Amino acid sequence: MKIVLLGPPGAGKGTQAEGLVKKLFIPHISTGDMFRAAISSGTALGMEAKRYIDQGKLVPDEITEGIIMDRIAQPDCRGGFLLDGFPRTLPQAMALEEMLKDQGGLDAVLDISVEPEHLIVRLTGRRMCKKCGAIYHLHYNAPQQENVCDLCGGELFQRDDDTEETVKNRLSVYSEQTAPLIEFYQKKGLLHVVEGNHPINTVLVNLGKALGQNWN
Ligand code: ADP
Ligand code: ADP
Ligand code: ZN
Repeated sequence: MKIVLLGPPGAGKGTQAEGLVKKLFIPHISTGDMFRAAISSGTALGMEAKRYIDQGKLVPDEITEGIIMDRIAQPDCRGGFLLDGFPRTLPQAMALEEMLKDQGGLDAVLDISVEPEHLIVRLTGRRMCKKCGAIYHLHYNAPQQENVCDLCGGELFQRDDDTEETVKNRLSVYSEQTAPLIEFYQKKGLLHVVEGNHPINTVLVNLGKALGQNWN
């Protein structure tokens, strides 16, 4: 299955992707994670991307499309993949169509819908594991031990772009540039909207239902 996870920053894409790939056995491809990995390795791509990410802006389409094209050409993507955070603009969506045109295109687009007023609280309270990238929240999904990852024991950190000011920029960038993708995919008959303001596991079960799976 070739799946796209859509939704505003803080909707729970990364969180749900962790659950979905365990059930579906396909690779989780997150452009945000790829950029953060490039930033910590200090590559030229990372340095370029950081200039945009720190301001809450999107990394230019050309760069982002290039890293996705390379990634989905890897052998582990032959049986499908879950895209999290790509596409985020109409040109990216069209570039993706072009990349997949010989493989029958996408199978489903899952839009996790969350009211804007919840997103700032979700993003400013988000914590991530330095070692394995697992996603936590100070209140909604707290680790058992403060600042320590339940899965790998790694230290948790707050992303530089999860400050209130940058979050506000990211939410307006989402409304202007990413929200139009909802209609784009609806017209193609690929869109499934799932309410994201439920407990994490309920959302996962409902995403499964949208894919025709029964995970109850
Ligand atoms: P995205 O990848 O869409 O930006 P994340 O998966 O990183 O979103 O989630 C953003 C924050 O919201 C994280 O701190 C996460 O723990 C929390 N979160 C995710 N899903 C839920 C949920 N269903 N209810 C409450 N908090 C959630
Ligand atoms: P979020 O959790 O807010 O959904 P991500 O981790 O997916 O954030 O992305 C973090 C940042 O990386 C974005 O704010 C943006 O600057 C950059 N980024 C990620 N995906 C894309 C993309 N498809 N196009 C352009 N920039 C991207
Ligand atoms: Zn961890």
